[in-house]
Amino acid sequence: MSHHRLVILGTGPAGLTAALYAARADLEPLVVDGMQPGGQLMITTEVENFPGFPEGITGPELMARLREQAEKFGAKTINGNVTATDLRSSPKRIVLEGEELTCDALIIATGATARWLGIPSEKALMGHGVSACATCDGFFFRGKEIAVIGGGDTAMEEATFLTKFAAKVTVIHRRDALRASKAMQERARQNPKIDFRWNSVVTEVLDVAQKKVTGVRCKDVVTGREEVLPVGGLFLAIGHVPNTLPFKGQIDLDENGYVLTEPRSTRTNIAGVFAAGDVQDHVYRQAISAAGSGCMAALDAERHLAGGH
Ligand code: NDP
Repeated sequence: MSHHRLVILGTGPAGLTAALYAARADLEPLVVDGMQPGGQLMITTEVENFPGFPEGITGPELMARLREQAEKFGAKTINGNVTATDLRSSPKRIVLEGEELTCDALIIATGATARWLGIPSEKALMGHGVSACATCDGFFFRGKEIAVIGGGDTAMEEATFLTKFAAKVTVIHRRDALRASKAMQERARQNPKIDFRWNSVVTEVLDVAQKKVTGVRCKDVVTGREEVLPVGGLFLAIGHVPNTLPFKGQIDLDENGYVLTEPRSTRTNIAGVFAAGDVQDHVYRQAISAAGSGCMAALDAERHLAGGH
């Protein structure tokens, strides 16, 4: 068991920015990589909207640079998957697979995971026409016909956003009624570039052999009929799951499992525990906003460790 003043869980933009700030403040943070080191940016291709990179940068390259920057100032990273925590004890306890850590302050930056359909062709074409983030990747589909899967607010928002670039957007939904709020539904329904395909599920994304999306095989769940819809891109908008399982029952979460933080702060309901990035934000979900809240969390933790609150 080792003790640390500050432990940061997660190495996405939130965790690594918190690490950078904390390391520069001489807090010697220990940063724990999770199941997906580097976070969701590791599965995107080009990032064109991170300020300071007018030429664009790939997601993995951006994360490698952020990691290098945090390590340059003394942040230590270890591999580990958090299985349990005791956040009310003093010091706070964190159980990793096969190892235990204690700390005086903790920053939770474990992110969220996009929900995927779970079919092999989807995985094979991820980053090659299959995406779970319209804001990140929409720009690459200028003039193309694309499909969005989902019937919630995210699906409506992404479909509407994508019409800025795409020639046509087809929303594929597994039922015949949308879950999205009335206002967002109306906006999408009135958009002449958006079509709906009801009661349909995607059973295969084509074409793995060509390493690009050329269409999706859709199955009508009422009639059982299958048909290929020719599209050049596929966006998944079937929800995200915050990575908060090890904190359940320990810390206040909202009804969807996201960590609750005080307004205009990264403080949680437990003194010395802070949360940053997508694990506490299902609204903005951008690398830059996650990095911003990681910075806030490091400053909040520094203040806490200095005896403030
Ligand atoms: P939701 O959970 O609200 O919706 C997910 C959608 O995906 C549902 O329509 C669901 O279908 C469908 N779905 C889930 N799993 C599958 C699957 N395996 N195959 C096919 N379809 C599937 O997630 P959202 O991301 O849309 O929204 C999350 C939260 O964020 C909500 O509270 C939402 O209101 C909020 N939000 C608000 C926004 C805003 O106000 N600007 C923008 C975006 C999100 P079914 O309906 O059949 O369950």
